Amino acid sequence: MSPRILTVPLSRRGLLGGGAALLAGCAHKPSPMRLAPGLPGSPVAPVTGPSVGYQGPVPVRAHERLWDVEKAMAGPTGLQSAPLVIVGGGLSGLALAWRLRDLKPVLIEHESRVGGHSQGQDWDGLAFSVGAAYFAQAPAGSLLSREFYRPLGLHRAWRVAGPEDTVMQGGKAVASFWEGTTDPAAAPDFTRVADHFRQVSEEAYPDMPPGEWQVLNSEQLAALDRQSFREALVAATGPLHPHVEALLQYYCYSSLGGTLDEISAAAGYNFYCAEMEGNCTLPGGNSRVAERLLAELLASGVDVRTERTVVRVRLGDNAVAVTVAGGEQPLVINADRVVMACPKFACARVVYDLPVEQAEAMRRIKYRAYLVANVLIDAPGPSETMGMYLLDPPSDGFTDFVVAEWAAGGHPSRSVLTLYRALPTDGGRASVFDDASFEVQRAAFMAQVQPLMSSLGIGGAPIYDLRIQRWGHALPLAARGLVADGTLALARRPVDGRVFFCNQDDWALPALETCLVRALEVEAEVRERIAAR
Ligand SMILES: Cc1cc2nc3c(=O)[nH]c(=O)nc-3n(C[C@H](O)[C@H](O)[C@H](O)COP(=O)(O)OP(=O)(O)OC[C@H]3O[C@@H](n4cnc5c(N)ncnc54)[C@H](O)[C@@H]3O)c2cc1C
Repeated sequence: MSPRILTVPLSRRGLLGGGAALLAGCAHKPSPMRLAPGLPGSPVAPVTGPSVGYQGPVPVRAHERLWDVEKAMAGPTGLQSAPLVIVGGGLSGLALAWRLRDLKPVLIEHESRVGGHSQGQDWDGLAFSVGAAYFAQAPAGSLLSREFYRPLGLHRAWRVAGPEDTVMQGGKAVASFWEGTTDPAAAPDFTRVADHFRQVSEEAYPDMPPGEWQVLNSEQLAALDRQSFREALVAATGPLHPHVEALLQYYCYSSLGGTLDEISAAAGYNFYCAEMEGNCTLPGGNSRVAERLLAELLASGVDVRTERTVVRVRLGDNAVAVTVAGGEQPLVINADRVVMACPKFACARVVYDLPVEQAEAMRRIKYRAYLVANVLIDAPGPSETMGMYLLDPPSDGFTDFVVAEWAAGGHPSRSVLTLYRALPTDGGRASVFDDASFEVQRAAFMAQVQPLMSSLGIGGAPIYDLRIQRWGHALPLAARGLVADGTLALARRPVDGRVFFCNQDDWALPALETCLVRALEVEAEVRERIAAR
């Protein structure tokens, strides 16, 4: 649920070495940041009644358009031109469009709402996430704070949580996990690993995308990336205590979509070291970031078009022809430049002039599916808990949860628990593709929800709805070796100085920070090409 990275180790060092002062100003009760309702294409959908079936993207619609382009383009076709087209209105596309708003880009989004995996819903004023929930702390002065969070005013609305160290075991919340409270006799087995994470943070943090403060050189980063997270941990700290192994395994499932043995050590450290620092949460999770960006784009006159799918991108002599299905009529936009801010599996299908080896690199990136359930409860929730991991979930169960209203400082009469269940195997997507799987999944969530509510002291409170969001291609898998063997660098390489790539899968790291850092990098690439013309 909570992939987070610190992309600028300066921030990390600031936090570890006396950064508390920097953060003190952030630990306030947030002021509500509510936008005018009805923002067209808003990533936050209102709850209008109990749900029926899965929420989220309808897989068939995308497949129909992308797999049968001729059918999607039947009928008369409109023609337009634009200096820049951005394909995909997830956080990467939105952030990039905002950075390049002076170029008046056209942003095309397949779904009816922008936000991609950072969307939310609003239950009469209680906003909750249906995907990404929070991000790493960013002290004032750090790159992302300067370039995004403060200009967007996000720092006025977020609530900062300290390092979350409480887990649930046997239905009980157990604090200070890394001190060994679940097995005091073996406490050194816990503290040794925690110390190791701290040391990596301070001395060898694998900053990805590499920033100006990268401490590892490219060979060191590649060496780390060739190992699995488990291999690197065991080599550094010895055999993992079963509780440590369980926590890190479920963390890898939930945040990175794979197992400790699949995930690259570079990706594992990148995420988990930041995890030990704490984070920022907004009401509605990261959908609030998307909402702020959308509001800014609309105010700047950027052309945001939802419910349209880019089905073909072709390099011509004078322009890049972007073929768009959906809307009143199919359309071809002749663009000077195009940024593909959608996942690489879509790029490999849509961008016709990709070098063969680049298309192959894109196809080597795997994506794992995900279910997120939101339990809407007609009673106040646990006021002190932001969320936690479960050490002993059932095999078909959720591994962690967050309390949605925590970010807004609580709610007087309602609560929403957001439950995270990644499907960390290649077959996971097929198991939920069919709509008929909904009832089975709902029953599995419900079986775990009642005991969880009792553990949180709200057992028996009335449940208004349990809404399940289905994500088919949720998390790009940070499999070992993708950085070291150049797969990701090749997949994100611009084509002909006219087609660029900007997405979380550029580094196979599913986090807000990847999107924002890539937006800065691609902004620079695009401006450089324009200046060179
Ligand atoms: C369950 C879950 C929990 C998560 N939790 C967190 C978290 O707590 N913190 C965090 O930082 N990150 C989290 N993440 C990762 C999250 O995905 C990223 O932070 C971020 O939202 C990715 O944005 P993106 O724009 O790169 O990609 P996406 O969100 O995938 O956006 C791509 C967009 O492109 C659109 N698109 C695709 N093809 C086309 C086409 N042909 N034409 C037009 N549009 C197209 C899609 O509809 C989509 O809107 C989570 C992810 C999931 C699934």
